[in-house]
Amino acid sequence: MADRDGVIWLDGEMVPWREAKVHLLTHTLHYGMGVFEGVRAYDAEQGTAIFRLQEHTDRLFNSAKILNMQLPFDKETLNEAQKASVRENGLKSAYIRPMAFFGSEGMGLRADNLQVHVMVAAWEWGAYMGEENLTRGIKIATSSYTRHHVNVTMTKAKSNGQYMNSMLALQEAISHGCDEALLLDVDGYVSEGSGENFFMVKDGVLYTPELTSCLDGITRRTIMQLAKDAGIEVVEKRITRDEVYIADEAFFTGTAAEVTPIRMLDGRAIGAGTRGPVTEQLQSLYFDIVHGRSPAHMDWLTPVA
Ligand code: PMP
Repeated sequence: MADRDGVIWLDGEMVPWREAKVHLLTHTLHYGMGVFEGVRAYDAEQGTAIFRLQEHTDRLFNSAKILNMQLPFDKETLNEAQKASVRENGLKSAYIRPMAFFGSEGMGLRADNLQVHVMVAAWEWGAYMGEENLTRGIKIATSSYTRHHVNVTMTKAKSNGQYMNSMLALQEAISHGCDEALLLDVDGYVSEGSGENFFMVKDGVLYTPELTSCLDGITRRTIMQLAKDAGIEVVEKRITRDEVYIADEAFFTGTAAEVTPIRMLDGRAIGAGTRGPVTEQLQSLYFDIVHGRSPAHMDWLTPVA
């Protein structure tokens, strides 16, 4: 990641990858007050296209509003920057990282003269948890770390500082031999993974936690829509960890994780302990759509050309 050819969009212009640097006193580096997105471009049948670009840009602006950050660019400019970052790096498929952060004009929590900078980087990134896990499924563990309370950090914002909680949970899960963590909310109900939304299937119905403490995931919205299109009932409700133990199927969704089946939670096999049929159906609908192989929801794809 450190040393490579290519360009990164920074404050309105493309900068060579190696020169895209910030000062050590960059405010966001010290206090975590910044907002970002994770977006994917796929090598679609019609050419490289960004999946649900507008929704990601809208969420970035909402995150900034929640943190009271004034973004110095409009949505159209940032949409174009994301397309250009894929195009100008010659990428057929990509993970795109827009981020807005405070500059180094002041230190301390009271600094009020800070400039807001915006960057967009793009690079090639395969399956987030490994190709084989998309079919085999992953092992997860309930985290000893609690997901943020809605009044501790703002859970509707995808903000930099939130991810300290995610990383602590993920490191713990990995150190216990698992692939990912399942975080519970302050009341003990299932919230989400360190970077994914959670779904489970029971008796043919798809369940996912309400949005109280988890991120309003764009893949979550996508899967809920695809399930409805396929005639699968979708219910948003509080879910307990023992409901997950006796679920027929479970999976995570996210831009990076796409649709990743969960085969085990806390040492208990979920259903048959393999990717279940509803998960497989939704995963395959998802991959058809992002790759432009399905006529449905073509408006979710924005060509980069
Ligand atoms: N929850 C968290 C904490 C995340 O970081 C992500 C990834 N952005 C998600 C859920 C999934 O969101 P999306 O589908 O929009 O990528």
